Amino acid sequence: MIVLRTMGKPNDNEIRFDPILREWVIVAQNRTVRPVLGKTFTNEEPKYTCPFCPDAPEGAGQWVVKALPNRFPALSTETKGNFTDNTLMYDFYQRRPGKGNCEVLLYSQDHNKTLGDLTISNIIALIELWKERLEFNMNIEELKYSFIFENRGEIIGVTLAHPHGQMYSFPFIPPRIEKAVESSKSYWDEHHSCLFCKVVETELTDKSRIIEENDDFVAFIPYFAKWPLETHIYPKQHYSYISQIPSSQSENFASIIKRTIQRLDKLYGFIMPYVFSHHNAPYNMGNYDHFHYHIEIYPPYRAKDRIKFIAGVEMGTHTFINPTNPQENAKNLRDIKLNE
Ligand SMILES: [Zn+2]
Ligand SMILES: [Zn+2]
Repeated sequence: MIVLRTMGKPNDNEIRFDPILREWVIVAQNRTVRPVLGKTFTNEEPKYTCPFCPDAPEGAGQWVVKALPNRFPALSTETKGNFTDNTLMYDFYQRRPGKGNCEVLLYSQDHNKTLGDLTISNIIALIELWKERLEFNMNIEELKYSFIFENRGEIIGVTLAHPHGQMYSFPFIPPRIEKAVESSKSYWDEHHSCLFCKVVETELTDKSRIIEENDDFVAFIPYFAKWPLETHIYPKQHYSYISQIPSSQSENFASIIKRTIQRLDKLYGFIMPYVFSHHNAPYNMGNYDHFHYHIEIYPPYRAKDRIKFIAGVEMGTHTFINPTNPQENAKNLRDIKLNE
């Protein structure tokens, strides 16, 4: 696992505060020059078409998984200014420099692999990389939250097919995470137990929405799924960060990730586009023992030939309409025969 320590070119990115929704928005003008799907990297390096394959500088060398700085970071330690610079525009709008850290996490040297067909030992190496990068960013005092994710599929807007995920480390807690943290804190205060453990216990008791299970992990479509095939993977024991999961559970962790993704990929006979995301607790802000680390996967499909679009109600009100039955979708995924 080689890590380059240059974080990108200096830029003027900003974080602006929306005073109406009371949340931060990243304005990253440097990202308009990102590579476009299907275009080769002809401008600067004419010799290769994928920057992460072994014949390109970033993909060169012997490695199984690898972290790189994002070449077009929305947030960067190289952004001009300091983390603590908060200024007012027009004597009204709050803004601060777009400081943070954006990394790319390569899953494999093989351009054509996907998360579902990596070997178990490769996925274990990836789990180790996720843990290592989280711990690295947790040690940067100004950072408060690391979001580890993978966008997969052209329909999700992926610009590079090489199997890789990303990691955004923010100097604030993103609003959706903050909401989940507040819920789990008030549940903890009221019940002296974990809200997420309660969700897992309820799903394990009901069983109808379970997709995969082993001694240490469970995968299910939650009762309240916003997306038709929204799948969550939870460790059965309570950990707030992926880095707290003991390596004795790595094989079961890798196995449930692989089997869950394989089910999604077999459901409609094509590699399922998705957003795959890790939900760790915030850090450097206080005690988050009440938060329970887990994975959430959001595929945008509602049927083999139908996409669920984020449209009026979702965009305008943040209220989701799930046009399908979570139990039925879970059963369809659970009933798929996997090659053992
Ligand atoms: Zn490649
Ligand atoms: Zn818990």
